[in-house]
Amino acid sequence: MEDETPELIALPLVPIIEESIIPEKTSTPNDPLDQQFPIVEMFYSVQGEGFHTGVPSIFIRFGGCNLACEWCDTSFDVWENLTLRQIIREMAPWDCNRIVLTGGEPALQDLSALSNILRPMGYELAIETNGTIEIPEEVMDWICVSPKDQLYSSVKIRQQIGDELKVVWVGQTLDMYDELLNGFDHHFLQPCYDESKDSDWNGKNFRSTLEMVKNNPGWNLSLQTHKWMGVD
Ligand code: SF4
Repeated sequence: MEDETPELIALPLVPIIEESIIPEKTSTPNDPLDQQFPIVEMFYSVQGEGFHTGVPSIFIRFGGCNLACEWCDTSFDVWENLTLRQIIREMAPWDCNRIVLTGGEPALQDLSALSNILRPMGYELAIETNGTIEIPEEVMDWICVSPKDQLYSSVKIRQQIGDELKVVWVGQTLDMYDELLNGFDHHFLQPCYDESKDSDWNGKNFRSTLEMVKNNPGWNLSLQTHKWMGVD
């Protein structure tokens, strides 16, 4: 019988927080619509991975991150400071009420004003976070934590409850997430997909992650379908 043990992928060496780029938090103005946020880009697309795969969503990408993962394929070090008023204007033409806050690390920002204004307007707010910063209660409708503690043994996951736990699998043992499992309703394993590598390299990661999911009930497979579609 063929050996079905997934092959481990070598963990990359990772520069830690000192090399990260973190935007300054802006002070809170009297009018919350004047609060500024560091925005890399905003676009309307479909959620490509995890629980809401295929669901049309507006994405707001925040600048800056407190980590520096080797596999990170996101540009977050150039941004423009936009007021909440400008953000709302930008979103107005898009016929969609689901917003995904992503980054970079969106939890570096004070998201209360954003939540207080956007949710009463009918928007549903989801956040994709690395989990190292606790998110104030009741400001988000959906919390997806994608921990990177397999790379940063010194980094603590502070957001221990949410809706979705999404782990990029690079060969780590899954028992490191045992303490987090009860805090989240949905658990996903996602292969590390590197666009600079060929289909053999990526296919091997896909197959290894598939075997991990088959051998570890309670975890589901998440694929970055937007990358195959060639959309953001
Ligand atoms: S936490 Fe996310 S955004 Fe930050 S460096 Fe790692 S992969 Fe990139």
